[in-house]
Amino acid sequence: MYLLDNAARDYDWGSRSDIPQFLGRSPGDRIAEVWMGTHPLGPSSVLVGDTSVPLSQVAGELPFLFKILAADRPLSLQVHPNASMAQAGFEAEEAAGVPIDAPERTYRDPSHKPEMAYALTTFDTLVGFRPTAEILRVLNGIDTPLTQSLADGLRERPGFRGIVRLVERLLTSDVSTDEIGEVVEVCRGLVDVGVDVKRAYVTAVEIAEFYPGDIGVIISLTLNRLTLQPGEAAFLGAGIIHAHLKGMCLEIMAASDNVLRAGLTTKSLDPKGLVACLEKGMSRLARVTPEPFGFSTEVFHPDVEEFALAVGQSCPPSRRGCCSHREPSASSCAPVVRSSRQHRRRAREARPRRVGLRRGRGRSDPRHRDRRGRPGVHARSRRPGRRADRPGVPLARAPGTSSRLIPAAETGSVDPQPHIAQCG
Ligand SMILES: [Zn+2]
Repeated sequence: MYLLDNAARDYDWGSRSDIPQFLGRSPGDRIAEVWMGTHPLGPSSVLVGDTSVPLSQVAGELPFLFKILAADRPLSLQVHPNASMAQAGFEAEEAAGVPIDAPERTYRDPSHKPEMAYALTTFDTLVGFRPTAEILRVLNGIDTPLTQSLADGLRERPGFRGIVRLVERLLTSDVSTDEIGEVVEVCRGLVDVGVDVKRAYVTAVEIAEFYPGDIGVIISLTLNRLTLQPGEAAFLGAGIIHAHLKGMCLEIMAASDNVLRAGLTTKSLDPKGLVACLEKGMSRLARVTPEPFGFSTEVFHPDVEEFALAVGQSCPPSRRGCCSHREPSASSCAPVVRSSRQHRRRAREARPRRVGLRRGRGRSDPRHRDRRGRPGVHARSRRPGRRADRPGVPLARAPGTSSRLIPAAETGSVDPQPHIAQCG
């Protein structure tokens, strides 16, 4: 086990309090993200003895990037490319000689970037397009020339392709800030009298407070709003449009920084690239149901090769040992986060045991046999949870146990403040 020293990002949407408090520190400089992994734009380092060395030297190149993310206001409206688009885009920009750290650079590596968000606080995000009928309900409720024209276009050509065409029109035509402001005012009036359609109007009003006149305000009307409670997770596959709104989460993704943005940001935009990357997806498909793994661990493993996320309960030192009673108290336990292919494999291996339980074979009676004559006791001898109790590779802990995330002050060997990277 190694202590990590991680790069932090101070993007303008970050929070001054959430991540410091998560790490058990007082509020201070804005921190939007802390990166844990081996991505070249923000590699972690580890302490080996008294020497700090790159994480890649002890762990190799990791296929995933793991972040803590804390947003005080909406992040950019964005899409991540699939594998073939990432490869082609990276090669094209390399051939064009665009520097890897240039602000206008879109593809900073040749990898796709599926990602999953695990909420640490109530976490609001926009993800995927609403169904056509719902978008029409939203637009029909806003009596402005812009929204009525958008609704007419969508009625002519409904479905995913029609929605993409609507977004493309918004991104490529000159919609004035006055037109956007008019839509926001109507939304505000509707919200004030208690009228909304699945929180579309209140979302537009909230976003406009930070980005008045931004076309992302209008596009937000077409997107599902998803609220994750602490402990819930959502998977954002390649091509799914999304914009995180507020809250703190753990984000795990393929080791990539490829983002195509269309609004709600001061960073470089690539509206045409974003439209080309769009793929069908809805928020109801985004939630990830965890697999129970033992008595105190849940494994979130969306259908990607690069990562899975196991979240377990552990006890603070003062109560260490109480989990041996298999009744960990939620109020006294902190999440321990692990991420590896190994967990995916172990979670898969855990499934047959539950099948065994459904058969109703006795746990310890060797006389019970299955249809092939195998003694039931063999299928049951590995009690659920036994493997989960083995030590893993903790990457992060919640307040009070922050020593696993950043080399801790208690070790006195490394500056406990995360390094603030300059490319934010
Ligand atoms: Zn994203």
